Amino acid sequence: TDTPIARALISVSDKTGLVEFATELARHKVRLLSTGGSAKVLKEAGLAVTEVSDHTGFPEIMDGRVKTLHPTIHGGILANRENEKHRMAMESHDIAPIDMVVVNLYPFVETLASGADYDTCIENIDIGGPAMIRAAAKNHSYVTVVTDPGEYASVIKDMDENEGQTSQKLRQFLAREAYARTSAYDSAISNWLTAEQGQTWPKRFTQAGRRQQILRYGENPHQEAALYSTGTKRPGVVTAEQIQGKELSFNNINDADAAFELVSEFDKPAIVIVKHANPCGVAQADSLIDAWQPALDCDPVSAFGGIVALNRCLEADLAEKLTELFLEVIITPEISDDAKAILADKKNVRVLVTGAMPDPAEQSMTWRTLSGGILAQNRDNGVIRREDCKVVTKREPTEQEWEDMLFAWKVAKHVKSNAIVYCREQSTVGIGAGQMSRVDSAQIAASKSEKHKGTAGSVVASDAFFPFADGLMAAVSAGATAAIQPGGSIRDDEVIAAADEAGIAMVYTNMRHFRH
Ligand code: 5GP
Repeated sequence: TDTPIARALISVSDKTGLVEFATELARHKVRLLSTGGSAKVLKEAGLAVTEVSDHTGFPEIMDGRVKTLHPTIHGGILANRENEKHRMAMESHDIAPIDMVVVNLYPFVETLASGADYDTCIENIDIGGPAMIRAAAKNHSYVTVVTDPGEYASVIKDMDENEGQTSQKLRQFLAREAYARTSAYDSAISNWLTAEQGQTWPKRFTQAGRRQQILRYGENPHQEAALYSTGTKRPGVVTAEQIQGKELSFNNINDADAAFELVSEFDKPAIVIVKHANPCGVAQADSLIDAWQPALDCDPVSAFGGIVALNRCLEADLAEKLTELFLEVIITPEISDDAKAILADKKNVRVLVTGAMPDPAEQSMTWRTLSGGILAQNRDNGVIRREDCKVVTKREPTEQEWEDMLFAWKVAKHVKSNAIVYCREQSTVGIGAGQMSRVDSAQIAASKSEKHKGTAGSVVASDAFFPFADGLMAAVSAGATAAIQPGGSIRDDEVIAAADEAGIAMVYTNMRHFRH
């Protein structure tokens, strides 16, 4: 393949940059072959074009369902130029070689997102396009396949450097991108049909992601990493706009996601401070500014270098407070101009604006890779209200205890297990995360609290049941007066008896929130 590219087939739905690209191809003396709509655009720009239907002698039929599905086209793309038999077949069937295929597909995903009806979605499943892309990609030793207007410039540059041909390296790169694209396209169709059928767990796992950013490194400097977007509309770290600060790191993104998902659970103005994907301070109040000090006081040592998430517009008063502390990331649904100006002085702090809050009850799927497999599950969208809870002790909780327990329960859902969370007056006062024993989590939470705020008069939430009374008793001796937990241990009677003995109130949620 040291001869220049002589013929290109152009068939694109997205006509961005098409005329400029085709003009450059014409400069390289490439003959243009094109389908109806694309040919029209090129002709209007004054370029010489042969219609595919004239080239094959077969018209476009069935509303375009069959346009390029013809042996003259596919033979021209697939022929091995160095194979004698292939060359003879081309000659005897009058097949001209096609050296470049420029195709982008019917906008299936966009059509689906626009809320189109079933038949319109079906009509937007491209058949001939993927067939040509896959054929050209298979034959990338000879054929250049261009599937993205974003690639036009580098293709022309490569042709300029290679006397009208492309380099093998570029062709292989484009082939790899081409198969990723057709695979993602089919994934989207399969996922749509799966959703239409209401069958949650298809036999095969298909999910496409688009690279959004290459990261400096992964969790550690010796790991390479990138961020991929799944095309979600859910407001959050992936869809947010970064308005200032250093480049986001792998850990920043992970932590900001954890913080923002937690803060979205609250109805009132709330602040979450996260370190290493666990909250180290959470509070809600009538205004964000009133929530700040309580959130910070929970664990000011850990909050240093933390991630702060808000569920209301960030205004100047809170921005002032935030500049007093070293923070990695601030993530907020909105920010005022005054607050922007104040944070601008802190050049390094990354500020993410999401535009909206996500719905904590939204249904979606989450997954995690492990060696040789993928674990998939529905997102934990469980939301517990007061009427879902059952009081199991002799003593009923007071109004304040109810409010604090429901608050603590939301926080516990977002703390790595075993999770123990002490709260008082709509603010966390001690958080124990990620311990292998519930007793340890209870003690760590209490000892952290002792350092800063004290657990006396608090309530305690446990993400899973207390298997024995000891974990609950650790919380009681730390000063908790009420407990919220799922219940369901075979020793529930023992645990309830211990609670009654201690005179505390306890409620069962009947829902567990493990988070590993
Ligand atoms: P045009 O706007 O040029 O008329 O059509 C371009 C679109 O048609 C491209 O998105 C291309 O992938 C698609 N396409 C090309 N050939 C065929 C075919 O034979 N069948 C179908 N369904 N789509 C095709």
